[in-house]
Amino acid sequence: MADMALLTTLGPLRRQDLGMILPHEHVFVDLRTPDQPGYAGGEAEDVVRLMAPEIERIKALGVTALVECATGGVGRRADLDLAVSRATQFPIVVPTGNYREPWIPEWVGTASEADLEAWMLRELTERFDEADYKAGWIKLSAGDDGITPLEAKILRAATRASRATGAVIGSHTIKGRVVMDQLDIIEAEGGRADRFISIHTQEERDFGLNLAVAERGAWIEYDHVGRAEDAGIIALIENVLAAGRGSQLLISHDVGWFDPAQPGGGVPRPYTHLSEVLLPKLRERGIDETTLTGLTHDNPFNAFARPL
Ligand SMILES: [Zn+2]
Repeated sequence: MADMALLTTLGPLRRQDLGMILPHEHVFVDLRTPDQPGYAGGEAEDVVRLMAPEIERIKALGVTALVECATGGVGRRADLDLAVSRATQFPIVVPTGNYREPWIPEWVGTASEADLEAWMLRELTERFDEADYKAGWIKLSAGDDGITPLEAKILRAATRASRATGAVIGSHTIKGRVVMDQLDIIEAEGGRADRFISIHTQEERDFGLNLAVAERGAWIEYDHVGRAEDAGIIALIENVLAAGRGSQLLISHDVGWFDPAQPGGGVPRPYTHLSEVLLPKLRERGIDETTLTGLTHDNPFNAFARPL
């Protein structure tokens, strides 16, 4: 067995080093396109002042790591994630990769597929461009109604970088049929569905398609905890468990964050609803501790861990 670890801001962490992991949150994001003035601008001390208290709140609840989902094109700042991480001694898993159109910096638009692959590989195996630690995974996206040629170029490059490193690819993709198209591209490049996370799976309202993605081998992710009615999220989770796909399910809030487009970074939303509200409700529904530990510890570790 390979020695598997999460590659974090604070170095590699093994399964036994970790408890609960939040697989989709944000410390810093900029949803303006990269050509906008001020894009991705922010000072470490300001980001730490705003976000360290949010990290301290989840540390007190027993959360041991979170996954940053801001990627290239939406204000990824691996240096700022590192600053917050060091200030709180809390590990964060940060991606390489790039978001969908139109959040494409000019250089990504014009780079060859081989150059994009080499860039992702460098960030995964050596260091980020803007900070001296390794990317933990690859985050990208596809258009709501279909994959554009540019997005397909990024996905093919990502698949080869994933094959070389074992890093998982996660994609912000709204429709289940577009996820299926992405899996076609991955498999054509020799990649594996189980190294792919369908982010925002809840946006596809046809549960049959949620399940079809899981049946194909990919991870599915309900990442609207605390942002939608608990009852609906609980029903989705119970349906996935009933279908026998609980070991492929990730749950998270998709909140935070320092937003450089807002004065002072805006007002962050806390990462606490899962621990404080949803898990107690799932316990009341009779879901056992082994299953809950699977959902909140083992699944995110298994999804994001890479061979060392
Ligand atoms: Zn997100």
